[in-house]
Amino acid sequence: MTDAPQLQRLAEGVWAYVQPDGGWMINNTGLVDDASGATSIDVTSTAARTRAYLGAAEEVASSPVRRVILTHSHPDHCNGASLLPDAEIIAHRRVADDLRAPHRLAPHIFTPFVQGDVAPRIPTLVFDDALTIAPEGRRIEVRHPGTPAHTTGDSYVWLPAERVLFTGDLVFHGGTPFALSGSPVGWLRALEQMASLEAEIVVPGHGPVGGPELFAPVADYLRFLIDAAADARARGLSPLETARTLDLGRFAGLAEKERIVGNLHRAIAEAEGGQPDIPAAWQDMYEYNGAQPLDCHA
Ligand SMILES: [Zn+2]
Repeated sequence: MTDAPQLQRLAEGVWAYVQPDGGWMINNTGLVDDASGATSIDVTSTAARTRAYLGAAEEVASSPVRRVILTHSHPDHCNGASLLPDAEIIAHRRVADDLRAPHRLAPHIFTPFVQGDVAPRIPTLVFDDALTIAPEGRRIEVRHPGTPAHTTGDSYVWLPAERVLFTGDLVFHGGTPFALSGSPVGWLRALEQMASLEAEIVVPGHGPVGGPELFAPVADYLRFLIDAAADARARGLSPLETARTLDLGRFAGLAEKERIVGNLHRAIAEAEGGQPDIPAAWQDMYEYNGAQPLDCHA
């Protein structure tokens, strides 16, 4: 059991919807109010969670959600979009590509959860580098970091007047960063870019809201990962063998520790200039987890 999700007010007309405990498939969203229609940053993983979120949004916003910015293509951030059939869906071009050809996980990987009758929607407005929305003057900047990071099509959303940054999964707070579908090296650059904005409030993709202090622990983990991958290559070990003997040290207290295996698949492949075997990486996370499904509370 986890605490109930809550809308957290960040500035006039700006909220984060924070869903404890931030684990697998339990993400945060953002809400930006405007008389021309509210903007939602991501939706959630299931019908029940997205309905609860939209109900909470309706209570505080002056108008319904008319546009959704998808920070990336992962299902927790996109699944509920079909509950907003008339909203503009805005995302980086690669999010549209990913959603047209979704990767399906083997059914045994996660503990079962009820997704309900929802599905992602293909973006109706795509961009390559950046896009600025200014409904009635409130500037909402959507930026791709110019490199694969958490995925290949990440965006972060910056409200310069309010100095609020919604990072999507470019920041995990309390959970293990997950780089299987991105690039650990690129992610470090994305973190530098976001840090240069000098945000006051940072809304991570998973976990509690914070400030710019949330960037350094993610960068620290990614550097640890890159070093572990280099060591694995030098010793000729597989990602799973490496993970099983790796002392996670200061990262041992992070939730979703099993992500180290998927992360090593990506980091080793990246160092070798190749691509990881994605189904094998998920299966190895399952093996690392004692051949048990990964704990999902969605
Ligand atoms: Zn994600």
